[in-house]
Amino acid sequence: MVQKHMPSPVGHALAGVAAAWTADLMPGRRVWRTADPRASFVRRAGGTLTLACAALGALPDLDLALSRHRAVTHSIGAVILVSIIASVVTGWVNRKVQSSKFKVQGSVVRITLMCAAAYGSHLLLDWLAVDMTKPYGLRMLWPFSDRWYISGLDWFPPTERREFFSLAAFRINLFAMVYETAVLLPVLGVLWLVRVKALTGFLAEAAGRDHPSQ
Ligand SMILES: [Zn+2]
Repeated sequence: MVQKHMPSPVGHALAGVAAAWTADLMPGRRVWRTADPRASFVRRAGGTLTLACAALGALPDLDLALSRHRAVTHSIGAVILVSIIASVVTGWVNRKVQSSKFKVQGSVVRITLMCAAAYGSHLLLDWLAVDMTKPYGLRMLWPFSDRWYISGLDWFPPTERREFFSLAAFRINLFAMVYETAVLLPVLGVLWLVRVKALTGFLAEAAGRDHPSQ
């Protein structure tokens, strides 16, 4: 059995959300992302955008289906491509919203940064993880460099994705997922608290400025 480096999709999704929420802390136009404290958990957590960032965190490993794992999808080139797509999609959604009754537009810069951070977090986690197969690490700087990079810090345990349904793989992957959750959940908890506190403040700020529509 070959133990691959790289955290599980669970770890990558959690890190994707953490990275996106960190990017979202930057100051700027904020009213559009406020949610009422009585709104659903998903909506207060950022709704579709947060879910998209969780998916973006895990997305680079889709190349497992190809033979060239940890190459092009695990690179700064892919982060740039994701940023371009995110900005185009956000611009398109904003134009749609403009012609609807909601008129709440997201900031293109903010959403692009959040998506890039979520995708980029995958590279960071893989760089920090254990790698037992050559070439070690990932081609992080492609297309600017073909070098493979690995931190050697081994912060995250390996996972097994080839003989996925074997008992040994189940044990390895379960341990990895529990470990990743134990490391990343407290980070997300802190970010959640900062985010909720900040967004509640913005909501009060917005309510003071104009009356909510409902
Ligand atoms: Zn990966």
